[in-house]
Amino acid sequence: MDDDIRKMQTRWRDFVPAEADVPSPDDRLDQDREQWRQELTPAAYRVLREEGTEPAGTSELNDEHRPGVFVCAGCGLPLFTSEMKFDSGTGWPSFFTTIPDVFETSRDFKLILPRTEYHCRRCGGHHGHVFKDGPAPTGLRYCNNGVALRFVPRDE
Ligand SMILES: [Zn+2]
Repeated sequence: MDDDIRKMQTRWRDFVPAEADVPSPDDRLDQDREQWRQELTPAAYRVLREEGTEPAGTSELNDEHRPGVFVCAGCGLPLFTSEMKFDSGTGWPSFFTTIPDVFETSRDFKLILPRTEYHCRRCGGHHGHVFKDGPAPTGLRYCNNGVALRFVPRDE
């Protein structure tokens, strides 16, 4: 893999506020539907637990450009840093790589063409789909529902 990307992936903790308590992907969080329903907003529940998709252009995270980290809205696991984000013009927060080992993937066929779905390794929450039309050098576009993320600025 490209050296710059590897560096970006290994220095993700530089984007986490100093005092933050960071969970590990292996510290699995298993909850039943009722617990999730109580903890999440209805919009976040629909995406994370029912594989819904938020309407394009509705997330305020589309315009989030401060240094920091995007964590799972379900379990707080850091998933992306601000330097992994790019403006795809699609209306969904988009990233060309991820913090290592935070997602698992599956194929889905909800549209006619197969897509690669990805979900949080810690809580199983659905986040979005990864496409192969992203920018160099990865060529990947992680198309993430904003409602499934929470942004934690580094400097506040
Ligand atoms: Zn999670």
